Amino acid sequence: MSMRYIQHLIDRVTPQSEKARKDQKRNLAGGYCFVIDKWAQLERFLILGSEGGSYYATERAMTRDNAKCVQACLDEDGVRAVAIIADISDKGRAPKNGPAIFALAMAASHPRDDVRRAALAALPKVCRIGTHLFHFAGNVTEMRRWGRGLRRAVGDWYNQLPPQRLVLQVTKYAQRDGWSHRDLLRLAHPKAASATHNAVYRWVVAGGSEALDAPAKRGTTPSREHLPEMLTAFEALRTTTHKRDVIELIRTHGFTHEMIPTQWKNEVEVWEALLDKMPMTALIRNLAKMTEVGLLKPLGDSTRKAVALLTDQRRLRKARVHPLAVLSALKVYEQGHGFRGSLSWKPVREIVDALEDAFYASFGAIEPTGKRHLLALDVSGSMTWGALSGMPGITPRVGSAAMAMVTARTEKHSHFVGFSHELVPLDISAKQSLEQVMDTIGRVPMGGTDCAQPMLYAKQHRIPVDTFVVYTDNETWAGGVHPFQALQDYRQASGLGAKLIVVGMTATKFSIADPTDPGMLDVVGFDLSAPAVMADFARN
Ligand code: CA
Repeated sequence: MSMRYIQHLIDRVTPQSEKARKDQKRNLAGGYCFVIDKWAQLERFLILGSEGGSYYATERAMTRDNAKCVQACLDEDGVRAVAIIADISDKGRAPKNGPAIFALAMAASHPRDDVRRAALAALPKVCRIGTHLFHFAGNVTEMRRWGRGLRRAVGDWYNQLPPQRLVLQVTKYAQRDGWSHRDLLRLAHPKAASATHNAVYRWVVAGGSEALDAPAKRGTTPSREHLPEMLTAFEALRTTTHKRDVIELIRTHGFTHEMIPTQWKNEVEVWEALLDKMPMTALIRNLAKMTEVGLLKPLGDSTRKAVALLTDQRRLRKARVHPLAVLSALKVYEQGHGFRGSLSWKPVREIVDALEDAFYASFGAIEPTGKRHLLALDVSGSMTWGALSGMPGITPRVGSAAMAMVTARTEKHSHFVGFSHELVPLDISAKQSLEQVMDTIGRVPMGGTDCAQPMLYAKQHRIPVDTFVVYTDNETWAGGVHPFQALQDYRQASGLGAKLIVVGMTATKFSIADPTDPGMLDVVGFDLSAPAVMADFARN
């Protein structure tokens, strides 16, 4: 539609290159749209992060802008901000924990005492494994001194772990960001919660069980009898030269792939033993490796085992497996080679299908609303840039298509369209596989951006829509009318109280949704809870 034509159709028309309302701001593409408040931006940052930046902003610029937002939230209500950080992290709503850890480190460095206390109290909730804790240590060291409060919080982190989990942490996660358990235990120097804790700390700091045989110093050196058996077994695992021992130790003690010396990692029997008790995220990450070594093959017993694990909804949720991680694994696995390195494999169909099921299952059950959904995907050039949360192979464009499939598979009445500066028909249906959908969306030509297109299209063709869902980075600029005006016009023309849900695919502060209109909603793309929130909103 040309601009002139639109002007005959709609009373209130403002080109996107001009302000339509006082509360609009210029976005990074040069168009005007609304801005979300700092709390909504905080959620976008915690869920999408700034890894890799966006088409319009470098990683550095985007991180700085978001850090400013985190700081503003901490200043206004630090305890509330910490609660949001902990909730998003603990519920596994975000694909990666990095943004939450970074924000928590900022909170732990805040000038106000109550904010710091809240942050340190939330440490075990946000940092659930050793790697998270190292990452936190790396961040917080840049922001503040290691005072007593911080040292005590880290010491408590170790002390609150039950012995079995403590042993798992110190054997599974060696180091990251220049920090190790040894560094942290020496720095925090906790008074051990039990004799077992004491023995494990000593084992970590001294670097092995031999130190526990030394004569007691000041009566505090723990004795070997308190050292959990798994740690001596772990030492045997690291030193043995016999494959049979390695397999036996894995079966007896449940050692994971991180604990196995690299020379065993091309042995099919070793992977077979590992698969038995393999945690969910490790399974998803090692599908390619296990296919390459020949453990996963068509109709194989191990394949059957892996498929059963991958499609177990309860275990997926319990392990906080995020759908974006599954999608990324699917994308990489089905192409048969990695993005880096020389690993290549022949994808096993049953595994590809199981990953597809796992993707949908990881969102949990969503009740259909029965409403008519127009699922509109921004296919402009900016959506093909970068990787969502740094996930290999998942551009905002590919990610939004997969996200829209979740709604399409739930809602019987849904229709896909693409838009750039013009409407782009999309041959996508809920019956297609994610592979097909990702392939289709990858071949759509790029263009400028006009987020009003879905509403103009629905009006022009008299398509009845209850809920417009627009998946976009909100960098709209090319249209002759603002999206919110086009929606108002559509409502008037159709007599339907159509709603608009904006699924934000990048961590910026911009949105096409009018914050004063209760019929418009912003959600964060790949927020685990987004599909359920969207359905509630569509339903009223
Ligand atoms: Ca764009």
